[in-house]
Amino acid sequence: MCGHPQKIEPRSGVAFTLKRGQRLTVIDPEGEQVADLVAFVRDDIDEVISSGRTIDYASRLFLTTGDPIYSNRSNVLLDIVEDTVGRHDFLLTPCSADTFRIIYGDEHPHRGCFGNLAAALEPYGIGPDRIPVAFNVFMHVAIDGTTGEIAVKPPLSRAGDRVVFEAKVDLIVGLTACSALQSNNYAFKPILYAIADPA
Ligand SMILES: [Zn+2]
Repeated sequence: MCGHPQKIEPRSGVAFTLKRGQRLTVIDPEGEQVADLVAFVRDDIDEVISSGRTIDYASRLFLTTGDPIYSNRSNVLLDIVEDTVGRHDFLLTPCSADTFRIIYGDEHPHRGCFGNLAAALEPYGIGPDRIPVAFNVFMHVAIDGTTGEIAVKPPLSRAGDRVVFEAKVDLIVGLTACSALQSNNYAFKPILYAIADPA
């Protein structure tokens, strides 16, 4: 039923197409590892997942099973159909060389999820300026409801936890094993993913 899982090596990323009706399972094989997910409509890359619209329509910051992920044109691109963790982030942009320079003070920063996504999406004609706020699978961002202050915490995911997305249109998907120390409790691990056809 489930396609053979593919591995995303630590601090790297991939891109692939996902057909309408197919299900994408994102698995944290070791625990406490984030995967950044972006998705573009395959036939029109001007249409892309939208954090702002999705959170607006959900009236909630934390998305889980049953929640749709909307595009900038308010179409549903993905549905979350299974989620064994229940805590993810859809506020922060993919980590990048600038993240590591500005937040961590790195002199020779890694290109991060942003650079990994840009490289993986380039063959699909998707340039870096098109990369939106990612749906950050397993990312745990704590939010103070009064001040709005945010803090990046260790993911709540344990080994084998998963989130399953169903594509509502044909998509180009970018997916990473996140490269930011804080987001992954200071250890870089792989991510597994599998694509399954409709039952
Ligand atoms: Zn990252």
